[in-house]
Amino acid sequence: MKHRRSIELAPPEGFAVEVEKQTLATLPQWFVIHARCGACRHQTPLERRGIGRRCGLDLSLARLAGRLKCRECGNRPCNLLLLGKLPRD
Ligand SMILES: [Zn+2]
Repeated sequence: MKHRRSIELAPPEGFAVEVEKQTLATLPQWFVIHARCGACRHQTPLERRGIGRRCGLDLSLARLAGRLKCRECGNRPCNLLLLGKLPRD
């Protein structure tokens, strides 16, 4: 059974080209962003509005990925952004 509000995380493949162009401002609202650590695989949802306020809405997703730091192990390189779609009613 699938919960109605569950979030499907799309693998970043296929989006890898676009993250160079997409920014927090251009990414459609129904995308949620999760970050996954490349070292310990810790995964956490990112709060888009909070990041936009701190870093600016013009921050590209590619640059955002480069700024991530894992809260678990402190890893910076090779962290991944995962995009999920919120269910649209
Ligand atoms: Zn980590």
